[in-house]
Amino acid sequence: MILMQGKGVSKGVIKGKLYFFQRPDTTVAMRQVEDVEAEKQRLAQAQETTVQQLNILAEKAREDAGEEIAILFDTHAMFVEDEDYVECILSCLEEEGCNAEYAVQMAGEQFAAMFAAMDDAYMQARAADIRDVSQRILNNLMGIVEGGIDSEEPIILAADDLAPSETIQLDKSKILGFVTQGGSSNSHTAILARTMGIPAICGLGDALKAEYAGRVAYLDGETGSVVLDPDELTHAQIREKYNKQQEMKEILATMKGQEDVTLDGKKINVYCNIGSPEDVAAVLNNDGQGIGLFRSEFLYLAANDYPTEEEQFQAYKAVASAMGGKRVIIRTLDIGADKQVDYFDMKKEENPALGVRAIRICLNRPEVFKPQLRALYRASAYGKVAIMFPMITSVWEVKECKRACQSVMKELTAEGIPFDPETEIGIMIETPSSVFIAEDLAKYVDFFSVGTNDLTQYTLAVDRQNAKLDKFYDPYHPALMALLAHIAKSANEAGIWAGICGELGADPKMTEKFIEMGYTELSMAAGRILETRKLVCESEM
Ligand code: PEP
Ligand code: MG
Repeated sequence: MILMQGKGVSKGVIKGKLYFFQRPDTTVAMRQVEDVEAEKQRLAQAQETTVQQLNILAEKAREDAGEEIAILFDTHAMFVEDEDYVECILSCLEEEGCNAEYAVQMAGEQFAAMFAAMDDAYMQARAADIRDVSQRILNNLMGIVEGGIDSEEPIILAADDLAPSETIQLDKSKILGFVTQGGSSNSHTAILARTMGIPAICGLGDALKAEYAGRVAYLDGETGSVVLDPDELTHAQIREKYNKQQEMKEILATMKGQEDVTLDGKKINVYCNIGSPEDVAAVLNNDGQGIGLFRSEFLYLAANDYPTEEEQFQAYKAVASAMGGKRVIIRTLDIGADKQVDYFDMKKEENPALGVRAIRICLNRPEVFKPQLRALYRASAYGKVAIMFPMITSVWEVKECKRACQSVMKELTAEGIPFDPETEIGIMIETPSSVFIAEDLAKYVDFFSVGTNDLTQYTLAVDRQNAKLDKFYDPYHPALMALLAHIAKSANEAGIWAGICGELGADPKMTEKFIEMGYTELSMAAGRILETRKLVCESEM
């Protein structure tokens, strides 16, 4: 028996084969070829595979994520065979006598540049679609497996650690659980695992060896243990825990359709955190009553260039419509620090967590902020959208954000574009300064949502990403409890509502305390909804 001990960061017991994440080399070089016809055939084959993949994605989206996203994939499939685009690839192949990869890259760049230069916002948005389609064809030419998983059966994904942009690309239907050498309970792998409701263990260090690839592992996301070849006793213990887990799942399933109301009649909104429109399926499956945090960064992390207003609008609209009138709180761009995006071309910083990130980028760069706000307001016509600003530290920031909102609403009105003028505006409370001026901030917004992950980091001066500091990262610290109570009190006195959208929102030890403090919303990974609902329904103040 081999026992590896790490830190359990997402609960659940699972058995599966270990598969090591593969980072593809996607650089394309020009190569002269002797047989141009053979290159054309390779190209045709890659195009055919691409169309098939896109058709499957469209079908899947139709079932899980809605018609809007499905149509996007249909359009991509059509573009693969677009006459002008194919003509452009073929003439590059013939004139240069080069490899198909290079020709696809050149044609993709050329078309993307052409669309990006158009006046019409909708046509500009097509540039990113073309890049996306070209990348898919390239992947097929180079044998790169999208989502980094080349396995027919579902697996346990092993890695050193995964970057946010990597977690975005993963084919999640193939993942049973995660094990990583590095990472902490706040790493993106951990957050993703909790969103998916599957076990994850991080911080395994060198104990997790590449030679274990393909071996069957037993994960316990609660205790943090990973076992290969368990002895009889261990096997029996794992089986018993697995059976209990399945029984609990059945009990929790009975909570679907029930209202989130305490024994003494207090209504609590139990909402979900999502990272992309794909996650809406899990929200609906778990009967989430709204979305308390849509991390809009996904659009930026998954792209090779700034997502356009139109692309963003389509994504927000898809989520708002899929939620059918239930509240969808979309957080404006929160990158910087650990979430880096190449094309933002940000300079290296000494203290990135205290640096140019989140609302600071948006307020410094209206050309980035404005398209997102326009997209958000446009999407507000299709559901109950609320806008939330991250990393607020001062009143002037909120005033500037609101000025930007006003100016966008004015523009949309002048252009005759529909939007909801009553769209709620909220802020994340995740810095100590925002807690201390909560009474003032409350005058300008409709709600507060507490980001306990960052609030813990900034209050305790502990880097949330540093696994070595895990024992110092204490979200139950009395200082945090005092701040949390103060936030709810300030909100209630000002007549606005307050919720929790950091990881602590799903903590069963905190559910009743939060309600007692005066919070009326708790937002969490979809997999935690029913458990929290059960706790809410059993609590009494
Ligand atoms: C938080 O800080 O608690 C939060 C919800 O935001 P993120 O984890 O995305 O920084
Ligand atoms: Mg945060």
